[in-house]
Amino acid sequence: MASPINIDTIPPVRVFPDFPEPGVAFQDLAPLYAEPGLLARLGDALVEPFAGAFDTVLALEARGFVIGTAVAAASRSPLVLARKAGKLPGALHRSKYALEYGSAELTVQHGALPPGARVLLVDDVLATGGTMAAAAELARQSGATVAGCGVILELVTLGGRKRLAPNPVTSLLTVP
Ligand code: AMP
Repeated sequence: MASPINIDTIPPVRVFPDFPEPGVAFQDLAPLYAEPGLLARLGDALVEPFAGAFDTVLALEARGFVIGTAVAAASRSPLVLARKAGKLPGALHRSKYALEYGSAELTVQHGALPPGARVLLVDDVLATGGTMAAAAELARQSGATVAGCGVILELVTLGGRKRLAPNPVTSLLTVP
């Protein structure tokens, strides 16, 4: 069973002001990944609220691959990688989105998410929700349904959770 993630007993997230551009406070989760055993506990903690509700994990490039892999391993679920434009061969579903900084496009291959799959979308950080919304659109185009969204860290004031409603969102850590 998942160990609760107690913010007082894990290494602090490092915040880099004005990276990668002025006005953005970059949340660097590297100290969490460097803590022995913590990544597996984070994976367990994201599986727990969605247990039984999903059968496939969709991990979002690039930093979502780390925690997405942990969630797929913890739940013994298939792992599908949503990749940025230009990275995947073959016929693709595509979804463009705006970031807190810049813009991008996510893609998945046709058939990667089976029709009817119940998909848990996983990323490291939820900011405006644009990336998650794009991933939800890829699930929709694939004929799958979104079981929920799981992230390690949520930047609450940027409103991603509201944007993703009514999809349930679980974050393990929050920044006001
Ligand atoms: P958003 O689409 O605005 O919710 O942004 C979430 C995505 O962008 C995630 O894939 C994060 O890796 C990245 N991201 C956005 N803002 C930040 C931030 N302040 N610190 C770290 N990563 C961020």
